[in-house]
Amino acid sequence: MSYGVRKSFYNSKAWKQVKNNIWIKQHLLCNRCHKPVYVNGLSDYLPKEKRRTGIVHHKIYLDNENVYDDAIALNENNLEGICKECHELEHHQDQVTRSEYTFDEQGNLILR
Ligand SMILES: [Zn+2]
Ligand SMILES: [Zn+2]
Repeated sequence: MSYGVRKSFYNSKAWKQVKNNIWIKQHLLCNRCHKPVYVNGLSDYLPKEKRRTGIVHHKIYLDNENVYDDAIALNENNLEGICKECHELEHHQDQVTRSEYTFDEQGNLILR
């Protein structure tokens, strides 16, 4: 996805509002590891060392086309608030499964 499109989407008022709704709904906790995340303006009370970055992840990944589709880009059912660590894992796993590795039925990483 081109950086310009993504940048203007993530700067939009609509996105910021939906994103904050997600965090409020999740009580400012990562949806996967349940650790508290830092969200600008919402969790300023958190001490600096406890501030792990929160990212609102699109379950259906955003691309150049669906970024304009509110039913995907701004749909709360397509969004999940997770911390930076869990987010990196999500996208890393995705890359791994697309390359020479896959998961077996028990969830173990194996070569294809
Ligand atoms: Zn997490
Ligand atoms: Zn993501």
